[in-house]
Amino acid sequence: MAITSVWVNEEDCTACGLCEETCPEVFEVGEVAHVKDGVDLNIYETEIKEAADGCPAEAIGYEEE
Ligand code: SF4
Repeated sequence: MAITSVWVNEEDCTACGLCEETCPEVFEVGEVAHVKDGVDLNIYETEIKEAADGCPAEAIGYEEE
């Protein structure tokens, strides 16, 4: 399985900062969290899944194929 996209549902994000703590290479939290541009997502597959599982607002989604 390879991660093809990652996103944050901004209306659900509470900007708690946990995703950036878990994987700062992919997530950046300002007023809300967003996914950084140009990141090779597959290098961080484990961390992305960990961040998505750990998000208290369940605001992180990803797609894999
Ligand atoms: S862990 Fe979830 S709620 Fe917290 S900043 Fe990241 S996306 Fe937003």
